[in-house]
Amino acid sequence: MARTPIMAGNWKMNLDHLEANQLVQKLAWSLGDLDHDYGKVEVAVIPPFTDLRTVQTVVDSEGLKIKYGAQDVSTHDNGAYTGEISTDMLVKLGCTYVVVGHSERREYHGESNELIGAKAKKALEAGLTPIVCCGEALEVRKEGRQVEYVVGQIDAMFAHLSGKDVASSVIAYEPIWAIGTGEVATPEDAQEVCGAIRRRIAELYDDSVADAVRIQYGGSVKSSNVVEIMAQPDVDGALVGGASLKADEFAKIVTYYK
Ligand code: PGA
Repeated sequence: MARTPIMAGNWKMNLDHLEANQLVQKLAWSLGDLDHDYGKVEVAVIPPFTDLRTVQTVVDSEGLKIKYGAQDVSTHDNGAYTGEISTDMLVKLGCTYVVVGHSERREYHGESNELIGAKAKKALEAGLTPIVCCGEALEVRKEGRQVEYVVGQIDAMFAHLSGKDVASSVIAYEPIWAIGTGEVATPEDAQEVCGAIRRRIAELYDDSVADAVRIQYGGSVKSSNVVEIMAQPDVDGALVGGASLKADEFAKIVTYYK
């Protein structure tokens, strides 16, 4: 099955609403200059919650094909949950995606695989596409246990998800030691784990689910290394942090196929 690659720019805790407005406009111009084919590679930005309304306004008013989503979501429905943001709120803001289980949320907010799975399920129930993150720390990699570790994360996160749920999700494999460090995994490293994730999905569900699910690589992706990474058979896109904050650089990453 031909999977449409997805390039998503995770802005993390950066950019106020004016900067967000500018970045989306500049990204659309840069993609236009590069004659990007949106049908060939999907483009999404993942701003902080406070910029979502701004992004929605720019995208709608200018009829852009750039999609967007949030960096996290609550497992609760609207109500007395101070500080939380519901799937209902994200849907009303026109979000397509929501990232769940980023390693920074696991590390600084103690998020477990079980909670991340529940967030993914909640997102799917609301019609959002979860970008479900996984990835090993440096110690695990040094011991050569990355495949076993990431497969364990997948098993735990997807325990309550159906094959249909998983087929319409995106998985982001992000080795923690490669995030924001400039230390990019080799294309072979990325393929090893992304391939193992797809095989595991086939075991847990079936081949059609494994064929459908899109698996991104993330961790210091740049225009200078994206081509080799995207050439791997089980890599269907990238989750890009730092390099997505520069419109021209992110546009080059998105148009890697040119
Ligand atoms: P990076 O971040 O591209 O800055 O390494 C990737 C991510 O954390 O999603």
